Amino acid sequence: MTVDAAGRSHRDAPVLRFDPTRDEFAALLDGEPRYRLDQAWTGLHERGDETDDLTNLPKALRARIDAELPLGLSPEEESVSDNGETVKWLWRLHDGHHIETVLMHYEDRTTVCVSSQAGCAMACGFCATGQSGFDRHLSVGEIVEQVVRARRTSAPRRVSNIVFMGMGEPFANYDRTWAAVERINHDLGIGARHITISTVGVVPGIDRLAREDLPVNLAVSLHSANDEDRNALVPINQRYPLAMLEESCARYLDAKNRRLSFEWALIDGVNDRASDADELAILARRLRAHINLIPLNPTPGYLTRGTPMDRVHEFRDRLTSMGANATVRRTRGTDIDAACGQLRASRQLVDPPRRR
Ligand code: SAH
Repeated sequence: MTVDAAGRSHRDAPVLRFDPTRDEFAALLDGEPRYRLDQAWTGLHERGDETDDLTNLPKALRARIDAELPLGLSPEEESVSDNGETVKWLWRLHDGHHIETVLMHYEDRTTVCVSSQAGCAMACGFCATGQSGFDRHLSVGEIVEQVVRARRTSAPRRVSNIVFMGMGEPFANYDRTWAAVERINHDLGIGARHITISTVGVVPGIDRLAREDLPVNLAVSLHSANDEDRNALVPINQRYPLAMLEESCARYLDAKNRRLSFEWALIDGVNDRASDADELAILARRLRAHINLIPLNPTPGYLTRGTPMDRVHEFRDRLTSMGANATVRRTRGTDIDAACGQLRASRQLVDPPRRR
């Protein structure tokens, strides 16, 4: 089976509403007057309209959009936490796979956390997505639609930031992720500096990102700054060990002059020792990276717990005293499994009961 640049397989996958670019959209709806196509495009992308809301369009065109460009995400569950400040969606894809998207309101910004793949092949043992394995890449439209739909719910609060920190490894699905970034920036009007791509450390992806024009932010999920421990925590480290990762981050910094950040989930007794802080501080200083610390969130397949808060603060203070820049992150949506590393699109809750 072949897959085109938008991630659609030619054999069986439909073209989804947010897969085409503006020109492709016009070509697909061939025969409609240009101004109608502009109205449709603007309504769908800028306002996040459903076809029923496009009342300025003739019924026949609305029906044509529904039939020829179906939506890619069906909501199976919407969970709300943090007094309404965090919303998580479980979406069903056209082929029955599932993904999740999280919307988070803060005092000064509103962020959508998007998935780039259904499942993940990176197999980090402490991450719920890694624990449940890889299903498939998302298409451009499936990524863009997550933002469009979350933005519709968010209104009147404006979505200001996008983070590629949901399910999947964005750089394992580079072409579609990058095409989606361009679309989110250009068609949805979200500034590149407000878009962050998080990677487990896929070096070829970092190298490609260094050559892109749009100045998005890069986050690297580090979790350990020595190869022995990192090989165990983040298996891709066996392929792209720390020395390679550091070199590629350094090349990225040279090329882009943007701040890099490191994600570090503090795991009790595993990566929260004084020696871990020392190794991390040294690496972060060399790369002038900002460190985001969070205590590990619980997941079903990993028994070790997060570092207690008092020791999280001690760890941060040790980093700071060594001249590194570190912040402790507030965790969001733990009670609805929406926090970092908890997304796994719990299929057992949503599958129709099987016949015996
Ligand atoms: N694959 C990419 C994008 C996912 S981002 C990446 O790894 O960066 C999800 C973030 O949550 C990553 O930083 C990941 O390491 C972190 N994470 C995974 N499991 C976690 C857990 N149980 N608690 C806290 N953070 C976790």
